[in-house]
Amino acid sequence: MRWRGRRPRPQCAHDDAWLEPWFQYLLGRGVTFSMDSSVEGITLAAAKLQSVQVLQGGAPVDVFADYFVFAVPQEVMAALVTPAIIVRAPSLAGIARLDVDWMNGIQFYLNREVP
Ligand SMILES: Cc1cc2nc3c(=O)[nH]c(=O)nc-3n(C[C@H](O)[C@H](O)[C@H](O)COP(=O)(O)OP(=O)(O)OC[C@H]3O[C@@H](n4cnc5c(N)ncnc54)[C@H](O)[C@@H]3O)c2cc1C
Repeated sequence: MRWRGRRPRPQCAHDDAWLEPWFQYLLGRGVTFSMDSSVEGITLAAAKLQSVQVLQGGAPVDVFADYFVFAVPQEVMAALVTPAIIVRAPSLAGIARLDVDWMNGIQFYLNREVP
């Protein structure tokens, strides 16, 4: 992409520019964040997802909710999707076979303009 005129640049790190204001906004709206937590399993009851097993600070907790959103990497979700879940949600059958590739990178935050 070519920029016309001066290219816009973030004036600070992405976390400060994007994530922290969003985090503060959601806190202000009553959202609770459990940072030291990882999803370990899903419990079904009849045809529905009943609860999610979470390790919170190392302690197992069953989380109950009306809706769950799993915004986790594909390989994590693939490990959570059991055959019993696939029976009830056949569209998840192919999740372990999704073609994915690893990426990594590094970002430098410079404190002066460079050419
Ligand atoms: C160096 C770098 C620079 C980038 N720059 C840009 C950019 O400038 N613009 C852009 O658009 N994209 C950029 N990207 C890509 C962008 O970061 C990714 O596309 C995006 O973060 C993917 O979001 P996601 O929510 O799908 O996954 P992630 O951001 O990877 O989020 C997945 C989350 O799941 C959590 N998780 C994993 N396992 C569990 C578990 N068992 N229980 C609970 N939580 C779990 C992880 O801790 C993580 O927080 C960059 C990526 C890198 C590496």
